[in-house]
Amino acid sequence: MKSNSYLLPLYNRLDVSFVKGKKSVLYDEEGKDYIDFSSGVGVNSLGYCNKKVVKTIENQANKILHTSNIYQIKSQEECAKKIVELSTYDMQCFFCNSGAEANESAIKLARKYGNTAFSKPKYKIITIKNSFHGRTIATLKATAQEDKHKYFGPYPDGFVYANDIKEAISLIDDSTVAVMLELIQGEGGIFMQDIKEVKELSEILKSKKLLLIIDEVQTGVYRSGKFLISHYFKIEPNIITLAKGLATGIPIGVMMTNLKDVLKAGDHGSTFGGNHFSTTVCKEVLNVLEEYKNSGNLKKNIRYFNNCLNYFVDTYTNLFSKKTGFGFMQGIVLKDEKKLEEIIKIALKNRILVLKSGKNIIRFLPPLNISKKEMKQGFKRFENALIEIKK
Ligand SMILES: *Cc1c(COP(=O)(O)O)cnc(C)c1O
Repeated sequence: MKSNSYLLPLYNRLDVSFVKGKKSVLYDEEGKDYIDFSSGVGVNSLGYCNKKVVKTIENQANKILHTSNIYQIKSQEECAKKIVELSTYDMQCFFCNSGAEANESAIKLARKYGNTAFSKPKYKIITIKNSFHGRTIATLKATAQEDKHKYFGPYPDGFVYANDIKEAISLIDDSTVAVMLELIQGEGGIFMQDIKEVKELSEILKSKKLLLIIDEVQTGVYRSGKFLISHYFKIEPNIITLAKGLATGIPIGVMMTNLKDVLKAGDHGSTFGGNHFSTTVCKEVLNVLEEYKNSGNLKKNIRYFNNCLNYFVDTYTNLFSKKTGFGFMQGIVLKDEKKLEEIIKIALKNRILVLKSGKNIIRFLPPLNISKKEMKQGFKRFENALIEIKK
């Protein structure tokens, strides 16, 4: 099966096409079932066809999908309230449609703050090596992976790259307005920052009235076991961005901030952002996820998943050097990076879906409500794939 020739060839697609899903299982055109340990790269937080979500979608489709943001949108207000309450931070929300847009909004907010809050304007935003913040021109430039920048310049000015948090602290100067980072790098190798270092950075920024921007597009919405991974780090960011898992497949992004009076009407906006449909679905997804988290089952399932991954790292020492990550955002590090594509393909053949991250990591982002039975079955298939590779 070749990909449709009317499409630009922007993706290296695997040779499979799914037609339906149920819970954490996908079905291809021939009806073969696949256990999903990837959830559309962290998007399908409740797997496929969650009953409550399907009902909410049906109901809302019969009422109203979209009105412009020049009118009041009650579900947008309610969805923001839910997100802010779950965050525990004193913040307000701006809704958009993707992670890149949420980060783009964060950059605009930081820039306006830098240009208005100080006698000498500040504009530099420091980001961390191997980060991933999106694919628009500004968020691509914010992504500190220079090999990705090659063809698309010139870029907006004012992004500075640090190798790590310590270096980010040392790079703060007179024109710095913010540091933006992922607490676990999703695309850049499931790399978790050091809690003490982040705390130190956070305190330094606060003392200088500069901004801490946390990109939780992948880590957020219970991926870590808590609503935000910022909670584990016990930090109070000025700006947090969310997207992927918010509405289990309906496009939505959020930029939330404690800077409530920087952006004014007309400074920023989005045509689709926060419409009736996406915010109604998002609200329902968050209600279901909150209930699931409070039942203790999220934690229990993460523990089981974790134990399974430990088994693979301990057993297949010829293939893997260690486990990395947190919660339901995990990776196992390959000793030989040349095996990465092969393992993903052979896993697919064994009907188990996994992702890559960085150059040498197999990434696991299962639906957050994956059952023990599905995990068991998935890891059995994953082990079959590994046995096939060893041969
Ligand atoms: C996926 C991702 C983005 C980009 O989100 P899009 O919805 O693809 O624009 C940004 N930051 C992080 C950390 C991500 O994982």
